[in-house]
Amino acid sequence: RIVSAEPADRREDAIERALRPKRLAEYVGQAKIREQLEIFIAAARGRGEALDHVLLFGPPGLGKTTLAHIVAAEMGVNLRQTSGPVLERAGDLAALLTNLEPHDVLFIDEIHRLSPVVEEILYPALEDYQIDIMIGEGPAARSVKLDLPPFTLVGATTRAGMLTNPLRDRFGIVSRLEFYTPDELGFIVTRSANLLEVAIDEAGAIEIARRSRGTPRIANRLLRRVRDYAEVKAGGHITAAVADAALSMLEVDALGLDMMDRKLLGAMLEKFGGGPVGLDNLAAAIGEAGDTIEDVLEPYLIQQGYLQRTPRGRVATAAIWRHFGLARPGQDDELF
Ligand code: ADP
Repeated sequence: RIVSAEPADRREDAIERALRPKRLAEYVGQAKIREQLEIFIAAARGRGEALDHVLLFGPPGLGKTTLAHIVAAEMGVNLRQTSGPVLERAGDLAALLTNLEPHDVLFIDEIHRLSPVVEEILYPALEDYQIDIMIGEGPAARSVKLDLPPFTLVGATTRAGMLTNPLRDRFGIVSRLEFYTPDELGFIVTRSANLLEVAIDEAGAIEIARRSRGTPRIANRLLRRVRDYAEVKAGGHITAAVADAALSMLEVDALGLDMMDRKLLGAMLEKFGGGPVGLDNLAAAIGEAGDTIEDVLEPYLIQQGYLQRTPRGRVATAAIWRHFGLARPGQDDELF
């Protein structure tokens, strides 16, 4: 999926790292989070303490990993990175924690996927900078308390609702990332184009921004694909018309919906009469995991008002019937 919000491979990963803003002042948008972090970081530094633990949640590609790196840079400390599914045993986490330097940032991506035994270790670590580890086996086994240096956990998740309550309660700073406006994304596209030495005018940047599902990762990815198109077909210069032609070729439509979005919405309209339809039926109809629909596809469609979640299931809105040029059953007059 070309506009998938997940990083695709290692090469892509390297480009993403290069485009990542390094300091809070370079981080575009998310004004509320930026302002809060600025204050909390200044205060922690002033007191010579580790920053309180931070939980960042929101759909993929909105800048959670980037913020974790920025927190470490602004605090002037190291960042260690891992993810929920990677930490299989309690010992994996204990090894990471005992290797931290004072005030370091430990970044755990997909923190909702920590195993319960690993999560158990995390509670006292977060609360008292201590861990209990078991030494030995059988009747001779005993538990030993180890002191940790004060540190900051930055946890990222696509859904805060999937965290257990005791874990969520241990974060002092909880922030939800929002989709970016076209103007903010336009700014990000222009900045990335400068870093990649791509010629682009303002209208070209806005065209890419408008069609990036409110997501910086997608904006940067589309910029690189549009650059390819521009180099081959338009002398390397990205204008609005060039961006539009390239994006249409990539099957990103005028609303910025991609193939997967249209597959989901198309199935809702054509197979389920616009809903209400349950998540499981929808997942089966388009051959996608329910989680992907909920975490990656739906948030933007809901935010844009194309789809609603009701207690009886998902419902397509009038806007999407119109976009697909289909008559809504029983309400044909709404079409024009
Ligand atoms: P997440 O961890 O939420 O999936 P990332 O932090 O990996 O998202 O962000 C994906 C890419 O988007 C980064 O490589 C970065 O280039 C870009 N990006 C994200 N947020 C911003 C921002 N606020 N300003 C500029 N670029 C951003």
